[in-house]
Amino acid sequence: MHETSIVNSIVKTLEMEFEAEKLDKMIAIYLKVGKLSNIEPRLLHNAYTAKYPCGTKFHHVKLHIESTDIKIKCEDCNHITQIENYRFICEKCDKPSKNLIEGEEMLIHKVEFDD
Ligand SMILES: [Zn+2]
Repeated sequence: MHETSIVNSIVKTLEMEFEAEKLDKMIAIYLKVGKLSNIEPRLLHNAYTAKYPCGTKFHHVKLHIESTDIKIKCEDCNHITQIENYRFICEKCDKPSKNLIEGEEMLIHKVEFDD
């Protein structure tokens, strides 16, 4: 399953970033998931719960998922437009653009520890 491998890669990233003792104190993970990333927040939650059921080490960690908007940067006028309804058109000069600068990413925005 797609979401399970995402959960695995999130945990792998955190394990590379932080010491094991620090991770034992982790209480929350904040993710930013672009609306074009093909990641369904609900499925990601489910995959997380399936991987860490009651009694496992990251079970108590809260997963916060924020959907981020789609933004394009116009090649002609460099204006940044927030895309609504999948209309990839610069709001300033009306030129169509597929120059995405936000909306496809999945990133770990913040991690909270109990100290
Ligand atoms: Zn433009």
